[in-house]
Amino acid sequence: MLVSSKAELKRREKQKKKAKSGGFESLGLSPNVYNGVKRKGYRVPTPIQRKTMPLILSGVDVVAMARTGSGKTAAFLVPMLEKLKQHLPQGAVRALILSPTRDLALQTLKFTKELGRFTDLRTSLLVGGDRMESQFEELSQNPDIIIATPGRLMHHLTEVDDMSLRTVEYVVFDEADSLFGMGFAEQLHKILTQLSENRQTLLFSATLPSALAEFAKAGLRDPQLVRLDVDTKISPDLKLTFFTLRQEEKFAAVLYLVREQIGSDEQTLIFVSTKHHVEFLNTLFREESIEPSVCYGDMDQDARKIHISRFRSRKTMLLIVTDVAARGIDIPLLDNVINWDFPPKPKIFVHRVGRAARAGRTGRAYSFVTSEDMPYLLDLHLFLSKPIRAAPTEEEVLNDKDGVMSKIDQAIANGETVYGRFPQTAIDLVSDRVREIISSSAELTSLQRTCTNAFRLYSKTKPLPSKESIKRSKDLPREGLHPTFKNVLEGGELMALAFSERLKAFRPKQTILEAEGEAAKSKNVQGLGQWVDVMKKKRAVHEEIINLVHQKRSTKPLEEAKSFKDEEYYISSIPTNHHTESGLLVRANEGFGSNR
Ligand code: AMP
Repeated sequence: MLVSSKAELKRREKQKKKAKSGGFESLGLSPNVYNGVKRKGYRVPTPIQRKTMPLILSGVDVVAMARTGSGKTAAFLVPMLEKLKQHLPQGAVRALILSPTRDLALQTLKFTKELGRFTDLRTSLLVGGDRMESQFEELSQNPDIIIATPGRLMHHLTEVDDMSLRTVEYVVFDEADSLFGMGFAEQLHKILTQLSENRQTLLFSATLPSALAEFAKAGLRDPQLVRLDVDTKISPDLKLTFFTLRQEEKFAAVLYLVREQIGSDEQTLIFVSTKHHVEFLNTLFREESIEPSVCYGDMDQDARKIHISRFRSRKTMLLIVTDVAARGIDIPLLDNVINWDFPPKPKIFVHRVGRAARAGRTGRAYSFVTSEDMPYLLDLHLFLSKPIRAAPTEEEVLNDKDGVMSKIDQAIANGETVYGRFPQTAIDLVSDRVREIISSSAELTSLQRTCTNAFRLYSKTKPLPSKESIKRSKDLPREGLHPTFKNVLEGGELMALAFSERLKAFRPKQTILEAEGEAAKSKNVQGLGQWVDVMKKKRAVHEEIINLVHQKRSTKPLEEAKSFKDEEYYISSIPTNHHTESGLLVRANEGFGSNR
Protein backbone atom coordinates (compact mmCIF):
# COMPACT_ATOMS: atom_id res chain seq x y z
CA MET A 1 0.00 0.00 0.00
CA LEU A 2 2.68 2.36 1.09
CA VAL A 3 4.77 1.47 -1.96
CA SER A 4 1.94 2.06 -4.36
CA SER A 5 0.99 5.41 -2.78
CA LYS A 6 4.60 6.46 -2.91
CA ALA A 7 4.69 5.55 -6.58
CA GLU A 8 1.44 7.41 -7.11
CA LEU A 9 2.86 10.47 -5.37
CA LYS A 10 5.91 10.31 -7.59
CA ARG A 11 3.73 10.01 -10.70
CA ARG A 12 1.68 13.02 -9.63
CA GLU A 13 4.82 15.00 -8.88
CA LYS A 14 6.08 14.18 -12.34
CA GLN A 15 2.79 15.19 -13.92
CA LYS A 16 2.78 18.46 -12.02
CA LYS A 17 6.31 19.16 -13.13
CA LYS A 18 5.42 18.45 -16.74
CA ALA A 19 2.35 20.66 -16.57
CA LYS A 20 4.49 23.48 -15.23
CA SER A 21 7.29 22.91 -17.69
CA GLY A 22 5.68 24.81 -20.56
CA GLY A 23 6.26 21.73 -22.68
CA PHE A 24 3.71 20.16 -25.03
CA GLU A 25 2.48 18.12 -22.05
CA SER A 26 1.24 21.23 -20.31
CA LEU A 27 -1.14 22.18 -23.13
CA GLY A 28 -3.65 19.51 -22.27
CA LEU A 29 -3.85 18.27 -25.85
CA SER A 30 -6.01 15.29 -26.70
CA PRO A 31 -4.03 12.08 -27.21
CA ASN A 32 -4.50 12.07 -31.01
CA VAL A 33 -2.99 15.52 -31.36
CA TYR A 34 -0.28 15.03 -28.72
CA ASN A 35 0.82 11.79 -30.34
CA GLY A 36 1.01 13.50 -33.73
CA VAL A 37 3.32 16.15 -32.25
CA LYS A 38 5.56 13.51 -30.68
CA ARG A 39 5.61 11.42 -33.86
CA LYS A 40 6.67 14.52 -35.83
CA GLY A 41 9.74 14.53 -33.58
CA TYR A 42 9.16 17.69 -31.55
CA ARG A 43 10.55 17.39 -28.05
CA VAL A 44 10.02 20.85 -26.61
CA PRO A 45 8.02 23.75 -28.01
CA THR A 46 9.94 26.59 -29.65
CA PRO A 47 9.60 30.02 -28.01
CA ILE A 48 6.91 31.17 -30.46
CA GLN A 49 4.98 27.94 -29.87
CA ARG A 50 5.33 28.34 -26.12
CA LYS A 51 3.94 31.86 -26.28
CA THR A 52 1.17 31.51 -28.85
CA MET A 53 -0.30 28.04 -28.37
CA PRO A 54 -1.90 28.57 -24.94
CA LEU A 55 -3.37 31.90 -26.14
CA ILE A 56 -4.78 30.36 -29.31
CA LEU A 57 -6.18 27.42 -27.38
CA SER A 58 -7.92 29.89 -25.07
CA GLY A 59 -9.80 31.22 -28.10
CA VAL A 60 -8.49 34.78 -28.50
CA ASP A 61 -7.32 36.39 -31.75
CA VAL A 62 -3.54 36.59 -32.03
CA VAL A 63 -1.06 38.62 -34.06
CA ALA A 64 2.30 36.87 -33.82
CA MET A 65 5.55 38.26 -35.11
CA ALA A 66 7.46 35.19 -36.19
CA ARG A 67 9.70 34.28 -39.07
CA THR A 68 10.00 31.06 -40.99
CA GLY A 69 12.35 28.86 -39.02
CA SER A 70 10.78 29.73 -35.67
CA GLY A 71 8.34 26.81 -35.67
CA LYS A 72 5.41 29.12 -36.48
CA THR A 73 3.56 26.59 -38.66
CA ALA A 74 3.06 24.14 -35.82
CA ALA A 75 2.17 27.10 -33.57
CA PHE A 76 -1.10 27.53 -35.46
CA LEU A 77 -1.58 23.95 -36.69
CA VAL A 78 -1.47 22.19 -33.31
CA PRO A 79 -4.22 24.36 -31.71
CA MET A 80 -6.22 24.05 -34.95
CA LEU A 81 -6.09 20.24 -34.80
CA GLU A 82 -7.05 20.37 -31.13
CA LYS A 83 -10.05 22.57 -31.87
CA LEU A 84 -11.32 20.60 -34.85
CA LYS A 85 -10.58 17.22 -33.22
CA GLN A 86 -12.25 15.00 -35.81
CA HIS A 87 -13.92 14.95 -39.19
CA LEU A 88 -17.61 15.84 -39.22
CA PRO A 89 -19.23 13.88 -42.04
CA GLN A 90 -22.13 16.30 -42.47
CA GLY A 91 -20.10 19.37 -41.63
CA ALA A 92 -18.58 22.06 -43.75
CA VAL A 93 -15.19 23.80 -43.80
CA ARG A 94 -14.15 24.87 -40.30
CA ALA A 95 -10.56 26.08 -40.76
CA LEU A 96 -8.97 28.23 -43.45
CA ILE A 97 -5.22 28.85 -43.83
CA LEU A 98 -4.14 31.50 -46.31
CA SER A 99 -0.60 31.34 -47.66
CA PRO A 100 1.10 33.81 -50.00
CA THR A 101 2.67 31.13 -52.20
CA ARG A 102 1.94 27.71 -53.58
CA ASP A 103 5.14 26.36 -52.04
CA LEU A 104 4.29 27.55 -48.55
CA ALA A 105 0.76 26.15 -48.92
CA LEU A 106 2.19 22.78 -49.97
CA GLN A 107 4.56 22.79 -47.00
CA THR A 108 1.68 23.64 -44.64
CA LEU A 109 -0.39 20.80 -46.11
CA LYS A 110 2.50 18.41 -45.47
CA PHE A 111 2.76 19.52 -41.83
CA THR A 112 -1.03 19.31 -41.39
CA LYS A 113 -1.00 15.71 -42.59
CA GLU A 114 2.00 14.80 -40.43
CA LEU A 115 0.82 16.47 -37.24
CA GLY A 116 -2.76 15.32 -37.80
CA ARG A 117 -1.86 11.74 -38.70
CA PHE A 118 -3.79 10.32 -35.74
CA THR A 119 -6.92 12.35 -36.57
CA ASP A 120 -9.29 11.74 -39.48
CA LEU A 121 -9.49 15.42 -40.44
CA ARG A 122 -9.64 16.14 -44.16
CA THR A 123 -7.73 18.92 -45.90
CA SER A 124 -8.11 20.50 -49.35
CA LEU A 125 -5.40 22.45 -51.07
CA LEU A 126 -6.55 25.30 -53.33
CA VAL A 127 -3.54 26.81 -55.07
CA GLY A 128 -2.80 28.17 -58.51
CA GLY A 129 -1.11 25.84 -60.96
CA ASP A 130 -3.36 22.87 -60.14
CA ARG A 131 -6.45 22.02 -62.20
CA MET A 132 -9.68 23.60 -60.96
CA GLU A 133 -11.57 20.35 -61.68
CA SER A 134 -9.50 18.27 -59.29
CA GLN A 135 -9.99 20.95 -56.66
CA PHE A 136 -13.79 20.85 -57.19
CA GLU A 137 -13.53 17.14 -56.66
CA GLU A 138 -11.66 17.63 -53.39
CA LEU A 139 -14.14 20.21 -52.16
CA SER A 140 -16.98 17.74 -52.75
CA GLN A 141 -15.33 15.44 -50.13
CA ASN A 142 -16.35 17.76 -47.26
CA PRO A 143 -12.92 18.96 -46.14
CA ASP A 144 -12.58 20.26 -42.58
CA ILE A 145 -9.58 22.43 -43.50
CA ILE A 146 -8.77 24.50 -46.59
CA ILE A 147 -5.23 25.65 -47.27
CA ALA A 148 -5.26 28.21 -50.06
CA THR A 149 -3.57 31.05 -51.85
CA PRO A 150 -5.91 34.09 -51.93
CA GLY A 151 -6.15 34.30 -55.74
CA ARG A 152 -7.25 30.71 -56.21
CA LEU A 153 -9.63 30.83 -53.25
CA MET A 154 -11.35 33.92 -54.73
CA HIS A 155 -11.52 32.13 -58.05
CA HIS A 156 -13.42 29.26 -56.44
CA LEU A 157 -15.69 31.60 -54.50
CA THR A 158 -16.72 33.38 -57.71
CA GLU A 159 -17.04 30.18 -59.79
CA VAL A 160 -19.01 28.08 -57.34
CA ASP A 161 -22.33 29.55 -56.30
CA ASP A 162 -22.92 27.52 -53.19
CA MET A 163 -19.40 27.73 -51.82
CA SER A 164 -19.41 29.57 -48.52
CA LEU A 165 -16.91 30.43 -45.84
CA ARG A 166 -19.61 31.16 -43.24
CA THR A 167 -18.89 27.94 -41.39
CA VAL A 168 -15.20 28.76 -40.89
CA GLU A 169 -14.29 29.07 -37.20
CA TYR A 170 -10.50 29.33 -37.45
CA VAL A 171 -8.63 31.57 -39.94
CA VAL A 172 -4.89 31.91 -40.29
CA PHE A 173 -3.12 34.57 -42.35
CA ASP A 174 0.32 32.99 -42.67
CA GLU A 175 3.28 35.19 -43.66
CA ALA A 176 0.81 38.04 -43.67
CA ASP A 177 3.43 40.62 -44.64
CA SER A 178 4.12 38.65 -47.82
CA LEU A 179 0.39 38.24 -48.47
CA PHE A 180 0.11 42.04 -48.43
CA GLY A 181 3.40 42.62 -50.16
CA MET A 182 2.23 40.47 -53.03
CA GLY A 183 -0.78 42.66 -53.67
CA PHE A 184 -3.41 40.34 -52.26
CA ALA A 185 -4.83 43.05 -49.97
CA GLU A 186 -8.02 43.51 -51.98
CA GLN A 187 -8.71 39.78 -52.16
CA LEU A 188 -8.03 39.40 -48.45
CA HIS A 189 -10.56 42.11 -47.62
CA LYS A 190 -13.13 40.38 -49.82
CA ILE A 191 -12.43 37.03 -48.18
CA LEU A 192 -12.85 38.67 -44.76
CA THR A 193 -16.33 39.89 -45.69
CA GLN A 194 -17.35 36.32 -46.44
CA LEU A 195 -16.34 35.02 -43.04
CA SER A 196 -18.59 34.76 -40.03
CA GLU A 197 -18.10 37.18 -37.14
CA ASN A 198 -17.80 34.28 -34.75
CA ARG A 199 -14.46 33.10 -35.88
CA GLN A 200 -11.02 33.10 -34.33
CA THR A 201 -8.44 34.93 -36.45
CA LEU A 202 -4.67 34.52 -36.30
CA LEU A 203 -2.11 36.52 -38.13
CA PHE A 204 1.51 35.37 -38.40
CA SER A 205 4.01 37.80 -39.86
CA ALA A 206 7.76 38.43 -39.79
CA THR A 207 7.14 42.20 -39.67
CA LEU A 208 4.16 44.37 -38.98
CA PRO A 209 3.97 47.08 -41.66
CA SER A 210 1.35 49.78 -41.12
CA ALA A 211 -1.01 48.43 -43.82
CA LEU A 212 -1.01 45.12 -42.05
CA ALA A 213 -1.59 46.74 -38.67
CA GLU A 214 -4.62 48.53 -40.17
CA PHE A 215 -5.87 45.24 -41.53
CA ALA A 216 -5.40 43.58 -38.16
CA LYS A 217 -7.44 46.36 -36.56
CA ALA A 218 -10.28 45.82 -39.01
CA GLY A 219 -10.26 42.04 -39.23
CA LEU A 220 -9.32 40.91 -35.72
CA ARG A 221 -11.13 41.22 -32.41
CA ASP A 222 -9.00 42.56 -29.62
CA PRO A 223 -5.93 40.68 -30.82
CA GLN A 224 -3.11 39.75 -28.46
CA LEU A 225 0.27 40.72 -29.87
CA VAL A 226 3.04 38.17 -29.43
CA ARG A 227 6.62 39.03 -30.21
CA LEU A 228 9.84 37.39 -29.13
CA ASP A 229 12.52 39.23 -27.29
CA VAL A 230 15.24 37.70 -29.41
CA ASP A 231 17.66 40.49 -28.70
CA THR A 232 17.57 39.88 -25.01
CA LYS A 233 18.79 36.34 -25.60
CA ILE A 234 21.82 37.26 -27.68
CA SER A 235 23.24 40.73 -28.11
CA PRO A 236 22.90 42.07 -31.67
CA ASP A 237 26.54 43.18 -31.29
CA LEU A 238 27.64 39.56 -31.15
CA LYS A 239 28.49 37.96 -34.45
CA LEU A 240 27.77 34.24 -34.55
CA THR A 241 29.97 32.12 -36.80
CA PHE A 242 29.41 28.39 -37.35
CA PHE A 243 32.15 26.34 -39.04
CA THR A 244 31.52 22.78 -40.14
CA LEU A 245 34.41 20.37 -39.83
CA ARG A 246 35.30 16.90 -38.60
CA GLN A 247 36.03 16.15 -34.95
CA GLU A 248 39.69 15.39 -35.65
CA GLU A 249 40.13 18.68 -37.52
CA LYS A 250 39.33 20.84 -34.51
CA PHE A 251 42.92 21.05 -33.25
CA ALA A 252 44.11 22.46 -36.54
CA ALA A 253 41.11 24.75 -36.84
CA VAL A 254 41.51 26.24 -33.38
CA LEU A 255 45.21 26.89 -33.96
CA TYR A 256 44.43 28.51 -37.29
CA LEU A 257 41.68 30.66 -35.77
CA VAL A 258 43.86 31.85 -32.94
CA ARG A 259 46.85 32.51 -35.18
CA GLU A 260 45.24 33.89 -38.31
CA GLN A 261 41.72 35.15 -37.62
CA ILE A 262 41.77 36.54 -34.13
CA GLY A 263 43.73 39.71 -33.43
CA SER A 264 46.61 39.61 -30.94
CA ASP A 265 44.92 42.21 -28.74
CA GLU A 266 41.70 40.22 -28.43
CA GLN A 267 40.81 37.98 -25.51
CA THR A 268 39.17 34.66 -26.21
CA LEU A 269 37.34 32.15 -24.05
CA ILE A 270 37.45 28.57 -25.37
CA PHE A 271 34.80 26.11 -24.16
CA VAL A 272 35.62 22.40 -24.26
CA SER A 273 33.65 19.44 -22.95
CA THR A 274 36.04 17.81 -20.46
CA LYS A 275 39.02 18.74 -18.30
CA HIS A 276 41.17 16.42 -20.42
CA HIS A 277 40.47 18.61 -23.41
CA VAL A 278 41.48 21.64 -21.32
CA GLU A 279 44.77 19.94 -20.53
CA PHE A 280 45.35 18.80 -24.07
CA LEU A 281 44.73 22.21 -25.62
CA ASN A 282 46.81 23.86 -22.93
CA THR A 283 49.79 21.67 -23.80
CA LEU A 284 49.25 22.04 -27.53
CA PHE A 285 49.14 25.83 -27.38
CA ARG A 286 52.26 25.91 -25.19
CA GLU A 287 54.08 23.77 -27.74
CA GLU A 288 53.14 26.46 -30.26
CA SER A 289 54.53 29.14 -27.93
CA ILE A 290 51.10 30.47 -27.02
CA GLU A 291 50.46 30.60 -23.30
CA PRO A 292 46.81 30.19 -22.31
CA SER A 293 45.10 30.31 -18.94
CA VAL A 294 42.99 27.31 -18.01
CA CYS A 295 40.21 26.50 -15.60
CA TYR A 296 38.38 23.25 -14.92
CA GLY A 297 36.19 21.76 -12.20
CA ASP A 298 38.54 20.04 -9.79
CA MET A 299 41.49 22.34 -10.36
CA ASP A 300 43.51 23.38 -7.33
CA GLN A 301 42.10 26.69 -5.96
CA ASP A 302 45.43 28.54 -5.96
CA ALA A 303 46.30 27.46 -9.47
CA ARG A 304 42.85 28.53 -10.62
CA LYS A 305 43.29 31.97 -9.04
CA ILE A 306 46.65 32.47 -10.73
CA HIS A 307 45.33 31.41 -14.13
CA ILE A 308 42.27 33.64 -13.94
CA SER A 309 44.17 36.65 -12.68
CA ARG A 310 46.72 36.32 -15.48
CA PHE A 311 43.84 36.32 -17.96
CA ARG A 312 42.10 39.22 -16.23
CA SER A 313 45.28 41.29 -16.34
CA ARG A 314 45.67 40.38 -20.04
CA LYS A 315 48.96 38.56 -19.52
CA THR A 316 47.29 35.66 -21.27
CA MET A 317 44.84 36.17 -24.12
CA LEU A 318 43.23 32.72 -24.14
CA LEU A 319 41.24 31.07 -21.38
CA ILE A 320 40.31 27.41 -21.85
CA VAL A 321 37.40 26.25 -19.70
CA THR A 322 34.68 23.66 -19.17
CA ASP A 323 31.08 24.79 -18.62
CA VAL A 324 31.12 23.86 -14.95
CA ALA A 325 34.30 25.79 -14.26
CA ALA A 326 33.16 28.82 -16.25
CA ARG A 327 30.13 29.30 -14.02
CA GLY A 328 32.11 30.80 -11.21
CA ILE A 329 34.39 33.05 -13.23
CA ASP A 330 33.76 36.72 -13.69
CA ILE A 331 35.46 38.08 -16.76
CA PRO A 332 34.54 41.65 -17.53
CA LEU A 333 35.25 42.33 -21.19
CA LEU A 334 35.79 39.61 -23.68
CA ASP A 335 36.16 39.73 -27.45
CA ASN A 336 35.60 36.16 -28.58
CA VAL A 337 34.13 32.90 -27.50
CA ILE A 338 35.06 29.64 -29.21
CA ASN A 339 32.75 26.67 -28.80
CA TRP A 340 35.18 23.85 -29.41
CA ASP A 341 32.44 21.35 -28.57
CA PHE A 342 28.96 22.35 -29.59
CA PRO A 343 26.77 22.99 -26.55
CA PRO A 344 24.05 20.34 -26.31
CA LYS A 345 21.41 22.76 -25.00
CA PRO A 346 20.48 26.14 -26.50
CA LYS A 347 20.50 27.72 -23.05
CA ILE A 348 24.12 26.67 -22.52
CA PHE A 349 24.99 28.21 -25.88
CA VAL A 350 23.34 31.51 -24.92
CA HIS A 351 25.06 31.48 -21.55
CA ARG A 352 28.48 30.80 -23.06
CA VAL A 353 28.38 33.38 -25.82
CA GLY A 354 26.77 35.95 -23.55
CA ARG A 355 30.21 36.48 -22.10
CA ALA A 356 31.34 38.33 -25.21
CA ALA A 357 29.92 41.55 -26.69
CA ARG A 358 29.00 43.12 -23.38
CA ALA A 359 28.95 46.76 -22.30
CA GLY A 360 28.45 48.11 -25.81
CA ARG A 361 31.39 46.22 -27.27
CA THR A 362 31.18 44.00 -30.30
CA GLY A 363 32.21 40.38 -30.09
CA ARG A 364 32.34 37.13 -31.97
CA ALA A 365 31.33 33.60 -31.14
CA TYR A 366 32.91 30.89 -33.26
CA SER A 367 31.40 27.42 -33.04
CA PHE A 368 32.74 24.17 -34.44
CA VAL A 369 29.99 21.97 -35.83
CA THR A 370 30.54 18.32 -36.74
CA SER A 371 27.92 16.32 -38.61
CA GLU A 372 26.72 14.90 -35.26
CA ASP A 373 26.22 18.46 -34.00
CA MET A 374 24.01 19.47 -36.93
CA PRO A 375 20.68 18.60 -35.21
CA TYR A 376 21.79 20.61 -32.17
CA LEU A 377 22.57 23.54 -34.46
CA LEU A 378 19.03 23.33 -35.90
CA ASP A 379 17.49 23.10 -32.43
CA LEU A 380 19.53 26.12 -31.37
CA HIS A 381 18.15 28.15 -34.27
CA LEU A 382 14.58 27.17 -33.44
CA PHE A 383 15.28 28.36 -29.92
CA LEU A 384 16.75 31.63 -31.21
CA SER A 385 13.99 31.93 -33.85
CA LYS A 386 16.73 32.61 -36.34
CA PRO A 387 16.69 31.32 -39.91
CA ILE A 388 19.67 29.25 -40.92
CA ARG A 389 21.07 28.21 -44.29
CA ALA A 390 24.12 26.58 -45.80
CA ALA A 391 26.83 28.68 -47.47
CA PRO A 392 26.66 28.27 -51.24
CA THR A 393 28.97 25.70 -52.73
CA GLU A 394 31.92 26.76 -54.88
CA GLU A 395 30.08 25.55 -57.98
CA GLU A 396 27.07 27.72 -57.17
CA VAL A 397 29.29 30.73 -56.63
CA LEU A 398 31.22 30.07 -59.82
CA ASN A 399 28.03 29.83 -61.86
CA ASP A 400 26.62 32.75 -59.86
CA LYS A 401 23.46 30.70 -59.60
CA ASP A 402 20.60 33.21 -59.04
CA GLY A 403 23.00 35.92 -57.82
CA VAL A 404 23.89 33.64 -54.99
CA MET A 405 26.52 35.78 -53.24
CA SER A 406 24.36 38.89 -53.05
CA LYS A 407 21.55 36.75 -51.61
CA ILE A 408 23.93 35.48 -48.97
CA ASP A 409 25.07 39.00 -48.10
CA GLN A 410 21.42 39.99 -47.80
CA ALA A 411 20.64 36.99 -45.60
CA ILE A 412 23.52 37.83 -43.27
CA ALA A 413 22.41 41.46 -43.13
CA ASN A 414 18.91 40.22 -42.15
CA GLY A 415 20.36 38.38 -39.20
CA GLU A 416 20.21 34.91 -40.72
CA THR A 417 22.89 32.36 -39.93
CA VAL A 418 24.93 31.16 -42.87
CA TYR A 419 27.08 28.23 -41.80
CA GLY A 420 29.91 26.88 -43.90
CA ARG A 421 33.04 24.77 -44.09
CA PHE A 422 36.33 25.65 -42.52
CA PRO A 423 38.80 25.83 -45.44
CA GLN A 424 40.30 22.40 -45.99
CA THR A 425 43.52 23.97 -47.14
CA ALA A 426 44.06 25.69 -43.83
CA ILE A 427 43.20 22.52 -41.94
CA ASP A 428 45.53 20.40 -44.06
CA LEU A 429 48.40 22.78 -43.55
CA VAL A 430 48.06 23.02 -39.80
CA SER A 431 47.09 19.36 -39.29
CA ASP A 432 50.54 18.22 -40.36
CA ARG A 433 52.09 20.46 -37.78
CA VAL A 434 49.65 19.30 -35.08
CA ARG A 435 50.35 15.65 -35.86
CA GLU A 436 54.03 16.33 -35.59
CA ILE A 437 53.68 18.03 -32.21
CA ILE A 438 51.52 15.23 -30.85
CA SER A 439 53.70 12.41 -32.07
CA SER A 440 56.83 14.00 -30.60
CA SER A 441 55.25 14.39 -27.16
CA ALA A 442 54.44 11.33 -25.08
CA GLU A 443 52.28 13.50 -22.82
CA LEU A 444 50.16 14.74 -25.73
CA THR A 445 49.88 11.30 -27.28
CA SER A 446 48.55 9.85 -24.04
CA LEU A 447 46.32 12.90 -23.40
CA GLN A 448 44.84 12.57 -26.86
CA ARG A 449 43.78 9.01 -26.10
CA THR A 450 42.22 10.12 -22.80
CA CYS A 451 40.40 12.92 -24.62
CA THR A 452 38.93 10.51 -27.16
CA ASN A 453 37.64 8.23 -24.41
CA ALA A 454 36.36 11.10 -22.29
CA PHE A 455 34.57 12.55 -25.30
CA ARG A 456 32.88 9.23 -25.98
CA LEU A 457 31.57 9.18 -22.42
CA TYR A 458 30.54 12.82 -22.57
CA SER A 459 28.63 12.22 -25.84
CA LYS A 460 26.67 9.41 -24.22
CA THR A 461 25.44 11.63 -21.41
CA LYS A 462 24.46 14.55 -23.66
CA PRO A 463 20.74 15.37 -23.91
CA LEU A 464 19.33 14.28 -27.27
CA PRO A 465 18.33 16.76 -29.96
CA SER A 466 14.75 16.69 -31.30
CA LYS A 467 14.03 13.88 -33.74
CA GLU A 468 12.69 16.39 -36.26
CA SER A 469 16.04 18.20 -36.25
CA ILE A 470 17.88 14.88 -36.68
CA LYS A 471 15.68 14.19 -39.69
CA ARG A 472 16.13 17.68 -41.12
CA SER A 473 19.90 17.53 -40.66
CA LYS A 474 20.04 14.51 -42.96
CA ASP A 475 18.34 16.42 -45.77
CA LEU A 476 20.54 19.51 -45.64
CA PRO A 477 22.31 20.52 -48.85
CA ARG A 478 26.10 20.32 -49.04
CA GLU A 479 27.53 23.52 -47.62
CA GLY A 480 30.23 25.66 -49.22
CA LEU A 481 33.09 27.51 -47.65
CA HIS A 482 32.11 29.79 -44.75
CA PRO A 483 31.54 33.42 -45.88
CA THR A 484 34.18 34.54 -43.34
CA PHE A 485 36.62 33.07 -45.82
CA LYS A 486 34.94 34.84 -48.73
CA ASN A 487 38.22 36.34 -49.78
CA VAL A 488 39.66 32.89 -49.81
CA LEU A 489 36.80 31.98 -52.04
CA GLU A 490 37.22 34.93 -54.30
CA GLY A 491 40.97 34.96 -54.27
CA GLY A 492 41.79 31.37 -53.62
CA GLU A 493 39.70 28.26 -53.84
CA LEU A 494 37.30 29.75 -56.33
CA MET A 495 40.02 31.04 -58.61
CA ALA A 496 41.85 27.80 -58.16
CA LEU A 497 38.80 25.93 -59.32
CA ALA A 498 38.25 28.24 -62.26
CA PHE A 499 41.79 28.14 -63.48
CA SER A 500 42.92 24.77 -62.30
CA GLU A 501 42.73 23.38 -65.81
CA ARG A 502 45.12 26.01 -67.10
CA LEU A 503 47.37 25.73 -64.12
CA LYS A 504 47.89 22.03 -64.20
CA ALA A 505 50.90 22.35 -66.42
CA PHE A 506 52.56 25.09 -64.45
CA ARG A 507 54.26 24.67 -61.13
CA PRO A 508 56.92 26.87 -59.73
CA LYS A 509 59.69 25.12 -57.82
CA GLN A 510 58.60 26.49 -54.50
CA THR A 511 55.14 27.33 -53.13
CA ILE A 512 54.59 30.87 -51.97
CA LEU A 513 54.19 29.46 -48.53
CA GLU A 514 57.70 28.15 -48.69
CA ALA A 515 59.06 31.34 -50.19
CA GLU A 516 57.27 33.51 -47.66
CA GLY A 517 58.26 31.13 -44.95
CA GLU A 518 61.93 31.44 -45.79
CA ALA A 519 61.54 35.19 -45.52
CA ALA A 520 59.58 34.90 -42.31
CA LYS A 521 62.18 32.58 -40.85
CA SER A 522 64.98 34.97 -41.64
CA LYS A 523 62.89 37.72 -39.95
CA ASN A 524 62.18 35.37 -37.07
CA VAL A 525 58.42 35.58 -37.53
CA GLN A 526 56.88 33.09 -35.16
CA GLY A 527 54.76 30.23 -36.31
CA LEU A 528 54.93 30.28 -40.06
CA GLY A 529 58.44 28.90 -40.16
CA GLN A 530 57.35 25.65 -38.56
CA TRP A 531 54.56 25.19 -41.04
CA VAL A 532 56.97 25.85 -43.86
CA ASP A 533 59.19 23.06 -42.63
CA VAL A 534 56.21 20.78 -42.66
CA MET A 535 55.41 21.82 -46.21
CA LYS A 536 58.98 21.07 -47.23
CA LYS A 537 58.88 17.64 -45.67
CA LYS A 538 55.58 17.02 -47.39
CA ARG A 539 57.09 18.04 -50.69
CA ALA A 540 60.07 15.75 -50.17
CA VAL A 541 57.73 12.82 -49.62
CA HIS A 542 55.21 13.58 -52.31
CA GLU A 543 57.28 15.37 -54.98
CA GLU A 544 57.60 12.36 -57.21
CA ILE A 545 53.93 11.49 -57.12
CA ILE A 546 52.87 15.10 -57.62
CA ASN A 547 55.13 15.41 -60.69
CA LEU A 548 53.79 12.23 -62.13
CA VAL A 549 50.18 13.31 -61.70
CA HIS A 550 50.91 16.72 -63.16
CA GLN A 551 52.62 15.17 -66.16
CA LYS A 552 49.69 12.92 -66.79
CA ARG A 553 47.14 15.69 -66.38
CA SER A 554 48.81 18.47 -68.37
CA THR A 555 46.82 18.70 -71.53
CA LYS A 556 47.23 22.42 -72.16
CA PRO A 557 50.44 23.87 -73.55
CA LEU A 558 52.89 25.12 -70.98
CA GLU A 559 53.06 28.56 -72.61
CA GLU A 560 49.41 29.23 -71.94
CA ALA A 561 49.75 28.32 -68.33
CA LYS A 562 52.80 30.48 -67.93
CA SER A 563 50.99 33.47 -69.34
CA PHE A 564 48.59 33.31 -66.43
CA LYS A 565 50.29 35.63 -63.99
CA ASP A 566 48.24 35.32 -60.82
CA GLU A 567 48.79 31.74 -60.07
CA GLU A 568 49.31 32.40 -56.40
CA TYR A 569 46.74 33.52 -53.89
CA TYR A 570 46.39 34.24 -50.24
CA ILE A 571 44.40 31.62 -48.49
CA SER A 572 43.75 33.43 -45.29
CA SER A 573 41.20 36.16 -45.91
CA ILE A 574 43.78 37.09 -44.06
CA PRO A 575 43.47 39.93 -41.74
CA THR A 576 47.24 39.74 -41.48
CA ASN A 577 48.06 39.88 -37.83
CA HIS A 578 50.62 39.54 -35.14
CA HIS A 579 51.24 35.86 -35.47
CA THR A 580 52.42 35.84 -39.04
CA GLU A 581 53.06 39.26 -40.40
CA SER A 582 52.87 38.07 -43.93
CA GLY A 583 49.79 35.88 -43.58
CA LEU A 584 49.63 32.30 -44.63
CA LEU A 585 50.06 31.65 -48.30
CA VAL A 586 49.81 28.74 -50.64
CA ARG A 587 49.92 28.26 -54.34
CA ALA A 588 46.47 27.98 -55.81
CA ASN A 589 47.02 24.82 -57.81
CA GLU A 590 48.16 22.86 -54.84
CA GLY A 591 46.26 22.14 -51.73
CA PHE A 592 42.92 23.70 -52.72
CA GLY A 593 39.93 21.71 -53.66
CA SER A 594 40.50 18.90 -51.24
CA ASN A 595 37.09 19.42 -49.76
CA ARG A 596 35.21 16.97 -47.67
P1 AMP B 1 8.61 26.70 -39.48
O1 AMP B 1 9.15 27.94 -38.83
O2 AMP B 1 7.19 26.44 -39.11
O3 AMP B 1 8.82 26.72 -40.96
O4 AMP B 1 9.42 25.45 -38.90
C1 AMP B 1 10.79 25.26 -39.17
C2 AMP B 1 11.22 23.83 -38.90
O5 AMP B 1 11.23 23.58 -37.51
C3 AMP B 1 10.30 22.77 -39.49
O6 AMP B 1 11.11 21.76 -40.06
C4 AMP B 1 9.55 22.23 -38.30
O7 AMP B 1 9.14 20.87 -38.48
C5 AMP B 1 10.58 22.36 -37.22
N1 AMP B 1 9.97 22.50 -35.88
C6 AMP B 1 8.90 23.24 -35.53
N2 AMP B 1 8.65 23.13 -34.23
C7 AMP B 1 9.59 22.30 -33.71
C8 AMP B 1 9.88 21.81 -32.40
N3 AMP B 1 9.12 22.15 -31.35
N4 AMP B 1 10.93 20.97 -32.26
C9 AMP B 1 11.69 20.63 -33.31
N5 AMP B 1 11.48 21.06 -34.57
C10 AMP B 1 10.45 21.90 -34.77
